[in-house]
Amino acid sequence: MKFLNSTFDFKDKINSSLGRETRVDWNNRKLKEYSEYLRNLKIKNLDIILDELINNWQSGFYKELMLSFVADKDDTRFLTFDELYNNRLLVLAAENLSRTNIKTIAFSKTDLNVFKTMQPFIDTIYFMNIGRKFLWEDVLNTFFNGLDARLMLGLDKFDELEEVPQPTAEFFQKLGETQIASKATSDLYMKLTLLQMHIEDDIFGHNFGDFSEDYRPTEDLFIQLLAGCSAVHNGRDTINSDDVIMAYKTFFKLVKTDITVYKAPQSIIDSMPEFTGYLVCDMCGVSHGLGPEDSPDDFEDTCDCGGHLVYKNN
Ligand SMILES: [Zn+2]
Repeated sequence: MKFLNSTFDFKDKINSSLGRETRVDWNNRKLKEYSEYLRNLKIKNLDIILDELINNWQSGFYKELMLSFVADKDDTRFLTFDELYNNRLLVLAAENLSRTNIKTIAFSKTDLNVFKTMQPFIDTIYFMNIGRKFLWEDVLNTFFNGLDARLMLGLDKFDELEEVPQPTAEFFQKLGETQIASKATSDLYMKLTLLQMHIEDDIFGHNFGDFSEDYRPTEDLFIQLLAGCSAVHNGRDTINSDDVIMAYKTFFKLVKTDITVYKAPQSIIDSMPEFTGYLVCDMCGVSHGLGPEDSPDDFEDTCDCGGHLVYKNN
């Protein structure tokens, strides 16, 4: 990548000296081209989406969001499979959505990979709001606060629902049938993606892929997920332009919401301690936490100070 970039830098220097288009010029031209194209589509509320998109970019918010996305968010232990099963939505998705394969990708179907893009965004926005690394309680909040169900069933009204809605298997079966099928919808979805891609290049320079290869596809699929949910709400399996607009509307509201107000239920917090036991040194008193899947036998029984590590359950 480094080599490629310096080659591009070199070419840019030559192009610039010859009065030819550089990568920056090209990116600016493309940005203009896609925004004009989208502005000219007569789609209801698309203007509001474009305004918000440009505003997030120019205010620096979008950059902050993307940096939070790639930030190292926690040093806590992983949740075990058994623990994850307490999130009913994950279970329903795993049971009812197709595994990702060539067919689901070719037909832009809402499959498991599309579903899996939601959690990284919930983590990212939570992280932006607390402004520090996750403690264990934050990990539990992000997984069990019910925001995923609120988003899927409430869309842009996710914050107005009094209770966490209960999704059903039927909802997920219908969701799995949704797809971006029409040319017009696919065009809108793709052009918005391209516009955002050029915005990303404007923010992080033009060394393509240097920022994060994950961000763009994750955001795109998350928009698709929300659009799929919108289609289900409207009794359709074909995602249309209204659904794409609704998805962006929901997304833009989500990224500006302080989602730390959504907490995991106390029963979850009580039932899933970060450490289920400790190894404590009998000489210096230093302690190491053990998770549910760690065995005291996996660790050395002597401390750096020469003392013995003894297992304690609290
Ligand atoms: Zn020690």
